[in-house]
Order: sequence, then C-alpha cells, then structure tokens
Amino acid sequence: MDIALISAAYIVAALLFILSLAGLSKHETARDGNVLGMIGMALALVATLWLALRGSSALNWLLIAVAMAIGAAIGIWRARIVEMTGMPELIAMLHSFVGAAAVLVGFNTFLATGTEGSDGVHLVEIFLGVFIGAVTFTGSIVAFLKLSARISSKPLMLPARHWLNLAALVVSATLLVWFVVSHSIVPLAVMTAIALAFGWHLVASIGGGDMPVVVSMLNSYSGWAAAAAGFMLGNDLLIVTGALVGSSGAYLSYIMCKAMNRSFVSVIAGGFGSDGAVTSGDVDYGDHRETSADEVADLLTHASSVVITPGYGMAVAQAQYPVADLTAKLRERGVDVRFGIHPVAGRLPGHMNVLLAEAKVPYDIVLEMDEINDDFPETDVVLVIGANDTVNPAAAEDPSSPIAGMPVLEVWNAKDVVVFKRSMNAGYAGVQNPLFFRDNSAMLFGDAKERVEDIIKAL
Ligand code: NDP
Repeated sequence: MDIALISAAYIVAALLFILSLAGLSKHETARDGNVLGMIGMALALVATLWLALRGSSALNWLLIAVAMAIGAAIGIWRARIVEMTGMPELIAMLHSFVGAAAVLVGFNTFLATGTEGSDGVHLVEIFLGVFIGAVTFTGSIVAFLKLSARISSKPLMLPARHWLNLAALVVSATLLVWFVVSHSIVPLAVMTAIALAFGWHLVASIGGGDMPVVVSMLNSYSGWAAAAAGFMLGNDLLIVTGALVGSSGAYLSYIMCKAMNRSFVSVIAGGFGSDGAVTSGDVDYGDHRETSADEVADLLTHASSVVITPGYGMAVAQAQYPVADLTAKLRERGVDVRFGIHPVAGRLPGHMNVLLAEAKVPYDIVLEMDEINDDFPETDVVLVIGANDTVNPAAAEDPSSPIAGMPVLEVWNAKDVVVFKRSMNAGYAGVQNPLFFRDNSAMLFGDAKERVEDIIKAL
C-alpha cells in the first residue's frame, strides 16, 4: 500500500515539475510555474523520506531531520541575503553541490553494494555517475569563481589543451573497463581525480564572452548528475527530475549558442571565439562625447519612440525601479517606450526579464532582440543602460573581434544613443566598444540608478 502511494506521489510530483517548466517558459505564468515546482518538490521530499525511512529507527529519522534543518537554515539565510547581482554565482555554487552529491552517492553505493556480486550495468552506472558528478563539481566551482570575479574571466590557454581533454576521456574510458572487470575502488578513485581536473580545465579554458553557454551547460550537467544518482539509488523520481533538468539545460545551451552564433562543440572544447587576447582600449576609435541628465531629459521630451536596452550594469546599479518609473512617465506623455533584451544580457539567462518583471514593467513592451532589431532605424532615442557587449557593433563589423559573429542589438541605427556607464571600461568579454565613439552616441557617466533618477527629476 505504502509503495503504491509513494509511486502515485512520485508521478504527481513529476507532472508538477513538467507543468512548472511549462509555466516558467513565459513571463505571465512564471510565478505559477515556481509555485507548482515548489509543491512538486515538497511532495517528492515527503514521499522520499517515507520511502527511505519506512520501519527505520528513530535515530535515522533524527539524523535526517537534523541534516534537513541545517540545510534549510543555510538555504534560507543565503537566499535572503543574496543580491540579484550575486544570483549567477550562487546558482553555479548550487550546481557544484549536485555534482558533489553524485560523487558521494556513487562511492557510497559502490562501498555498500558494488564490491562483489554486482552486475556490470550497475558498476557502469556508478562510474558514469561519479564521472559526471566530479566534472560538474569542479566545473561549477570555476564558474562560481569567474562569475564572482574572484578569478579572471580570461580563458586558460594550456598548450595542447584539446589533447589534454581527449587524454582525460580516453584514460577514463580505460579505467571504466578496469573497474567493471576488477570491482576495485582504485580505478574509480583515479578516474575521480582525473574527472575533477577535467571539469576544472574545461571551464577554465572558456573565455568571458562564452560564459552564458557554460552556465547553462553546467545546469544541464547537474541534471544528468542527479539522474545518474537516481540510477544508483534506484529512485525513479530522481531519474525523471534529473533528466528534466538535464534536457532543459541542454536546450538552454542550444538557445544560448544560437543567440551567440557559436557551435556548442566549439564552446565546450574550450575558448572558441577567444584566443585569450583580451583587447580593452588598444584600438583608437577617436573621441567620445559626454552628455548630462538635463540634456538627455531634453532629448526624451522631444522623442516619440524610445527603446531601452538594459545590461549587466542595470543589475549592478539596481536601476530597474527608476527605469520602470521613467518608462511610466514617458508613456504617460504618449512616448512609445519599449525594451530590447539580448538573450545573454546580464549574467544569467533571463536576467533582465527578471529585473524588469520585479519592477513591474509591462511584459508586452519587453521584446526579444530579434523582435526589435529592425525597428532601430525608426527609433528616436536608445537608452543603453549598463549594457556593453550586447550592443557592441564590433561583433557585427569586425571579423577579428573576440565576439565576432555574435548577433547584437543594433542600437547604433537609431537617431540618438545614450550610453549609461561609469567609465570607458570594456564589458565582460574585455572588448572595447566602438559604439561609444559614434557621432550619434553620447556617454552619460555615473551610476545608472542615480543618472536615471536625475533624468526623472529633470523631466
Ligand atoms: P557587459 O557585462 O558587457 O557590460 C556591463 C556594463 O555595465 C559595463 O561596461 C560597466 O561599465 C557597466 N556598469 C557596471 N556597473 C554599473 C553601474 N552601477 N552603473 C552603470 N553602468 C554600470 O553587459 P551586457 O549585459 O551587455 O553583456 C553581458 C556579458 O556577460 C556578455 O559578454 C555575456 O556573454 C556575458 N555573460 C552572460 C551570461 C548570461 O547568462 N546572460 C553569463 C555569463 C556571462 P562601467 O564599469 O564603465 O560602469
């Protein structure tokens, strides 16, 4: 009876996860999608606890309860204090936990069941689970370090790096055969060390501009690591959930690659589109023009169409609230205001959409890059708020640029462009931006939030 109920709970939880993913795919339904996901996870937790601890001693229940209480306390504390700008690295860190869990489950399963009498399939499951988990673990830690700027976003260019990656795969495959034949922990341990180094190297060798693909790729890996843990533990729901995360992460990586005009294989093979030479300011594009909040207010007063293209700087400045106020004010005056969102703007897929939704900007004026790019020639003013790489004409015009080929928001086609940033520094990819030196561009220096507030005051 118990088992039938638990199976039913698992099926309902799996359905809720699928509905949650469907909900998350649109602004309007994202909140409901989150709620469905939370209900599914609560159901899954209760059912799994019940399954694992049926007839178990009070001590086991106590141990689990203590572990869950500590985990929940840390989770709630981190979630409450994390800044929106810190979300990408927090997510990278959480991915590393899934990887570590898969490694620990793999070793635990092997020590409990694998040493003797185990069939080959079970041993392959353990080996692959530990491999994927170890790659996810160190890869996510490097992503965490890069996204939080604790290490440089420049790609690590070891000599013969592709051969090193290939050697790691070939040696691991050989160790798999040894493991299945010998049932010894030695090949498993050696492979774990190789996979940890492999994961580290794989992400370290990817350059700044390609990081969005890495983030979504690690998201996918963490799903496959969870699915592998599900196989090892014989838990169907974990297999289904892991596969959902793995495949949606893989699809997101595909979308990111398409958005950046990169091939997935070349990105994960390391450092495509970047030869490690980060060029910031070594080309002379001429002089830039500076403007003031009053001048921008004047420009906006005479505009009939305005497009706002936000980027990572809007997240840093937390400028989304004054940006929403400015939008409302201009719309009240009959100005057509829309937003153009680049798929890799910010540091997380959907980063800008989340910020704008938080500030209650109406969804129907928030457009994707492809939907707005043709409209720039008819636009009076573009406000580039803390965006840089995603509006860089070099991507479209300079084949030698590290971001060459990446589709960007073609803001320079508008009549006037105002760029909000604090300095002439390069963006995340480390590439100088010729947009800043165009005749129709003006720089509004300072913190984006303060400058937008100044404009509202001046209007
Ligand atoms: P960029 O990171 O290229 O540039 C952000 C700009 O914001 C900087 O030039 C900075 O200039 C400015 N800025 C920072 N703080 C402030 C502030 N307080 N006020 C005003 N301006 C500020 O941003 P984009 O969004 O255009 O591009 C995203 C980049 O991140 C791409 O290269 C993308 O590949 C990468 N990336 C994206 C991920 C994703 O999933 N979306 C994940 C990982 C990387 P200054 O310092 O002069 O103020």
